[in-house]
Amino acid sequence: MTYFFETYGCQMNSAESAALALVCRERGWIAADDGESADLVLLNTCSVRLTAEKRALGRIALYAAVKKKRLERGRPLTLVLAGCMAQRLGKELQAQFPAVDYVMGTAARSLFPLILEAAEKALGPETFPEMAEQAVFSFSPSHMEERQFRSFVPIMHGCDNFCSYCIVPYVRGREVSRDPRLITGEIRLVGERGVREITLLGQNVNSYRWNGGVSGGLDFAGLLRLAAAQAAQSGVRWVRFLSANPRDFSGETIRVMAENPVFCRHLHLCVQHGSNRVLSAMNRGYTRERYLGLIKEIRSAMPGISLSTDILVGFPGETGEDLEQTLELMEEARFLYAYMYHYNPREGTAAYNLPGRISEEVKRERLSRVIALQKKHTAELLKSRIGSRERVLVEGISRKNADELITRTERDEMAVVPGPVSMIGRFAELTLSSLRGNTFRAKELRICPGV
Ligand code: SF4
Repeated sequence: MTYFFETYGCQMNSAESAALALVCRERGWIAADDGESADLVLLNTCSVRLTAEKRALGRIALYAAVKKKRLERGRPLTLVLAGCMAQRLGKELQAQFPAVDYVMGTAARSLFPLILEAAEKALGPETFPEMAEQAVFSFSPSHMEERQFRSFVPIMHGCDNFCSYCIVPYVRGREVSRDPRLITGEIRLVGERGVREITLLGQNVNSYRWNGGVSGGLDFAGLLRLAAAQAAQSGVRWVRFLSANPRDFSGETIRVMAENPVFCRHLHLCVQHGSNRVLSAMNRGYTRERYLGLIKEIRSAMPGISLSTDILVGFPGETGEDLEQTLELMEEARFLYAYMYHYNPREGTAAYNLPGRISEEVKRERLSRVIALQKKHTAELLKSRIGSRERVLVEGISRKNADELITRTERDEMAVVPGPVSMIGRFAELTLSSLRGNTFRAKELRICPGV
């Protein structure tokens, strides 16, 4: 039997789809080339913005039509919804689209083998809805994609921060920290299978806390130490983590990173805004001074580390002066890059009913100023790196030129270089000799022996 997944949204959804695909493969299922020909289609949905939900609705409608045609030819299609939108609107979606067989949400993934078994035996989803309601979240043992040299390793699920614009705590629930023995076990497993770079994953990794069986409990810094030791034993050379939150980012975490070169010298540290008044209205739990102080500490402990961030403009009540403070913070922080977007009201979040909504036109104008400044910083920072000798992980074939390879530095910069496909998944060295757009060019690649 064959399966086909469409995954939307964040890295956590990608990791969870990889885990579900592994369950399929372990039962002998094969990945189909497209959804139209698959026995089972799974849509792993996202709720972070209304646009993501609208897109998913379009895909559900498409597969409902495919299913109808297939059934006319006597060929069933099992249609499964997973992820945050399924968690948020499960019942409504099933009522709107009777073609949907299973709504798994974010908590019921452990029941996925039952869905596969039912499909194998051509049984219907009769008992599943009740089971899904009672399902308790559990971590999958592995999130490795086939033939991959990089892997996500989830360490937490859910979020307790309740930033006032964010839907995540309502669709992913309260924070659950994963047993560190399962985390180091997964690092060993993927390392033995050739993975060279891992990303520890959570909505808010800095609030990781394991109290089970470890005296005094284990915090994120403690987990990083364990992960670094396991990575060293298992051939994993680079460790990244995502998403970091300034609210809980400890000095001890900085020390552990600085002590161990396995931690890539890049950090994605979401600031969201530069005005204390707006940060407070967003319930972010830190001030601009705290944020700038933190990155100063990080940069002095790890000179040359690159920083990226998220910036959200157009929050209800935001003034022109608030935006100026965001631009000033960007000038001081000088991020390598940033994900920049404007506020999208999400029903069910605390900010949804806040007064002082900003017009679409003003939101777009403010966003364009933030993007223009970030583009300037990115260009200046990348230009200053030309001539630098770098270790890179070879990620694949360049889309623009099949004789060239696309590589990534530990600072999360991209470089293109001529080279053989046999280098993909391996570490190498190169000199950043020129820049085209935001991508470096290099003349030659040199293998890093023994890495
Ligand atoms: S930290 Fe805030 S923005 Fe991030 S997932 Fe949690 S509530 Fe959402």
